[in-house]
Amino acid sequence: MNKVAKNILEVQNLTVCYGEFKAISDINFSLQRGDFVGLTGPNGSGKSTLIKAILGLVKFSQGEIALWGKAINQFSEFSRIGYVPQKQTMLNPLLPATIEEVLLTGLLSTKKIPRLINKKDRQKVAHVLATLKITLPKDKIFTKLSGGQQQKILLARALITQPELLILDEPSSALDQTAREDFFQLLRKINSQDKVSIILISHDTGSIGQHANKILYIDQKQIFFGALNDFCPEKNPATCFEKRGKHLIWHQHD
Ligand code: ADP
Ligand code: MG
Repeated sequence: MNKVAKNILEVQNLTVCYGEFKAISDINFSLQRGDFVGLTGPNGSGKSTLIKAILGLVKFSQGEIALWGKAINQFSEFSRIGYVPQKQTMLNPLLPATIEEVLLTGLLSTKKIPRLINKKDRQKVAHVLATLKITLPKDKIFTKLSGGQQQKILLARALITQPELLILDEPSSALDQTAREDFFQLLRKINSQDKVSIILISHDTGSIGQHANKILYIDQKQIFFGALNDFCPEKNPATCFEKRGKHLIWHQHD
């Protein structure tokens, strides 16, 4: 056994500001291959901001982020990270694209200009659809799909480059109970079979408790990072979240 576990992501003393406003500070955690981290905290606690900093989408004013051992300002292999953003931000730019077109946009980060689509790309589309057992016709219009189907397509889009780290920002908020369970099963499989590391942002503390092996709990500052078992020895996520975070918003899904 390699004694020094190799971190795929390391965040140290991170502070991100929007102008004068300090959105997050003192964030410290690391991720190893195969981790499934549940990132949670109240509305406006900085979860999306943290993820955007990790993806290089917002600048940070203090601290360090390293991806696969490389400081983020020297890191360029962003196709190793699959990202499923919060849904609202995805919809408009994609109108009125077909399923295949949405999936092909997932390959753009791997291409050099003029970014032509070739036969291999279409094979990748077919492959990822088969892997996720999605049988919908490729020429269906994305926005006409149900919430659960759209979410699966966005997951497929994030997986098309075969990333080693998958980041999902509130992916289940629009899904009903059955679609949500189905979606989490899929994530579990990707995590355990393919050893894809996952950061799942969610208010849904029940799902996090069921699926994640580590918890990162923030409220502008870091409240907890560690194994789920340490966060919640009695194995009842609902009571643990209640005890630790009196203000954590519990979203009860119907
Ligand atoms: P969460 O994802 O946990 O709900 P966010 O990271 O979206 O939280 O937001 C954290 C805080 O930063 C909030 O107070 C939000 O209003 C603020 N914020 C987020 N994005 C911006 C931005 N682009 N400009 C200014 N303030 C922002
Ligand atoms: Mg958010």
